[in-house]
Amino acid sequence: MLQYPELEKYLKYHFGYDHFRPGQRQIIEDALQNRDLMVIMPTGGGKSLCFQLPALLKPGLTVVVSPLIALMQDQVEALRTNNISATFLNSSLNSYQVRSREEAIMTGKVKLLYVAPERLISDRFLPLLDVVKEKIGLANFAIDEAHCVSEWGHDFRPEYRQLRLLKKRYPHVSTIALTATATDRVKADIIEQLGLQQPSIHLASFNRQNLYYEVRPKSKRSYAEILEIVRENEGSGIIYCLTRKKVDELTFKLQKDKVAALSYHAGLSDKERAGNQTKFIRDDARVMVATIAFGMGINKPDVRFVIHSDLPRNLESYYQESGRAGRDSEPSRCTLFFSFGDVKTIEWSINQKTDPQEQLIAKQQLRQVIDYAEGTDCRRTIQLGYFGERFPGNCGNCDNCRYPKPVQDWTIEAMKFLSCVARCKERYGMTYIIDVLRGGKNQKILLNKHDQLSTHGIGKDKTVDEWRMLGRSLLHQGLLEQTNDGYSVLKLNPLSWEVMRKQRSVSIAVPMVQKLSLEDGHGKAAEVEVLVQKLRALRKQLADEQAVPPYVIFHDSTLKLMAQVQPKTLDEFGELSGVGSYKLEQYGDQFLTEIQAYCQEKVVQLQTNNQSSDSAFDHYPSDTESSTLELYQQGFSIREIAEQRNVRTSTIVRHLSDLIEKNKQVDLNQLVPLEHQKKIWQVLEVLGDISLTPIREHLGQDYTFDEIRLVRARWRKEKRKAGQF
Ligand code: ADP
Ligand code: ZN
Repeated sequence: MLQYPELEKYLKYHFGYDHFRPGQRQIIEDALQNRDLMVIMPTGGGKSLCFQLPALLKPGLTVVVSPLIALMQDQVEALRTNNISATFLNSSLNSYQVRSREEAIMTGKVKLLYVAPERLISDRFLPLLDVVKEKIGLANFAIDEAHCVSEWGHDFRPEYRQLRLLKKRYPHVSTIALTATATDRVKADIIEQLGLQQPSIHLASFNRQNLYYEVRPKSKRSYAEILEIVRENEGSGIIYCLTRKKVDELTFKLQKDKVAALSYHAGLSDKERAGNQTKFIRDDARVMVATIAFGMGINKPDVRFVIHSDLPRNLESYYQESGRAGRDSEPSRCTLFFSFGDVKTIEWSINQKTDPQEQLIAKQQLRQVIDYAEGTDCRRTIQLGYFGERFPGNCGNCDNCRYPKPVQDWTIEAMKFLSCVARCKERYGMTYIIDVLRGGKNQKILLNKHDQLSTHGIGKDKTVDEWRMLGRSLLHQGLLEQTNDGYSVLKLNPLSWEVMRKQRSVSIAVPMVQKLSLEDGHGKAAEVEVLVQKLRALRKQLADEQAVPPYVIFHDSTLKLMAQVQPKTLDEFGELSGVGSYKLEQYGDQFLTEIQAYCQEKVVQLQTNNQSSDSAFDHYPSDTESSTLELYQQGFSIREIAEQRNVRTSTIVRHLSDLIEKNKQVDLNQLVPLEHQKKIWQVLEVLGDISLTPIREHLGQDYTFDEIRLVRARWRKEKRKAGQF
């Protein structure tokens, strides 16, 4: 029996979601019963909701401890777009701001307070918290990124250690600790360090079903492949590189290929980094090329792909980094480019370590990464196995499951390869051996008289890449060795000799050429995509007006639903997953108008299929546009029309712009001063038909989005008339 049958209702009302994600309901029920909680969920699992919903349902203030300023701001912004009263206190605020926020807390209006650990436990703050407890009540402590408390985690922060003080001072306030780190060691540490009392422990599966995992061989063509992935995807992506230099090079190349890419690494100033990050979060840049310095605390839910162009250090990091894709549960892609050269680089750096124990661990971790990259089993099975989770395989959403590599018998080839190593007296590396096999006659070969060996030229039937693949596989399978002195000289071992004596056969997995897109674009899907694009543009504009990231307005998944369902009324709109009561009120009308306009355009296009295409723009304003036009022609101002129709002024401006584009009688001169019209027109001539934000950036604060939108409509109409598009 459900203890709290109404929870779904509150979920829909406050957050707009229809169902709880796995685990959420149980956790929330426990929280409502004031139990201490240890929540372990993968990135994107939906941890925040586990303390946010109880915060709204319980009396008093919920204090959320968060390690990063960016994280706090993000969550508070997202909460506010759902009309939930939340605020944060951190070092980015001046003392006046701090005081006024503290006062707001004292009035009892604030439900969630985000705060950095060092502030929370400061002598100045704790007395304040005592007063809050007396006057308002304390609902919960939520410790986000709780692994920061543990030295065994990957992100230890000493300030977190002092949080144990909270349990001593407020023994009756329950604590919810949350993390995405799954190892037992860290889990035990968190419970111990925070002094959790008989916590209810929730360990969610680490399987991220929506992520497609693939590994590709790294080669000269890799850049072209990266570009293809970037171009195939509409949304945002992160590309990780090992060094700053590589980051800058790749960013430069992508920019040259007209991709809106930015860099992020420790070599940039704080300001540049923060600026680039904001641009990425707000969808002003689409691709972030970064070292692993980037990512922690990035809450962007609509990252569609994460590419590792270099090998990650260990599987845990790979899981976390690639896991930044698809937090919104939409299909997303994780691609790892693998090369043996990278393995060499990492091996070299491991060998620089002085502590033998550390060396051993690092080597083992590297081995696991190689096994993942070279493995022919389901990638999920390998990853989840690493976290101690059993997964049966056949996930259908990784390269190995979708394109099983046929295993071929390469015993003869292996014999040729190994004999060549033997004939060359185990003194050369892979490149040289392959040269000899393929009958190369370079100076070194001639000098060594290796063109006279019986194995010279016996491998002309295979390409260099094929031989290389065999060579790696032999190394991986332990049928061949390689020195660790930086020269990578190939050495034989007893197993090699077994192969050469035909006592052992050799099979290798041969990859096929693969190309796939995550969704196939048949008619309906492509059509939906057109509408999604329009809704995306509207979302971006609204976000810019409020200076928030687009995803806090609506998630991609909600835009997709809008395009698929194409609701006709506000009620229908409100039923979509992701539309809560407040967002319905705030944005319902605007999105509905956009959807209706699209549907009508489609009808018109069908009707006028045989006529010239721009006639569609000359007629047929939508119903809501017609109402606006009528009022406008009666002489009402934009503000008055908005009031009468009970919508935002920006909606009216949007109507008027569309009407201008559709060649209706709207006098632009009454709406935008002539000087401004001229300037905006000039910029449009230079920049072309692009979104409002870059145009505004060009023009500066004196120009409003509304003005630009209106002039752009006129400009579009003229251009269309002139047949320029
Ligand atoms: P985590 O902190 O575990 O990485 P978040 O709390 O940021 O994950 O949640 C990931 C995304 O999933 C967020 O954008 C959130 O709004 C969304 N989400 C959370 N719970 C639900 C739900 N029940 N239904 C749909 N989306 C949800
Ligand atoms: Zn699989």
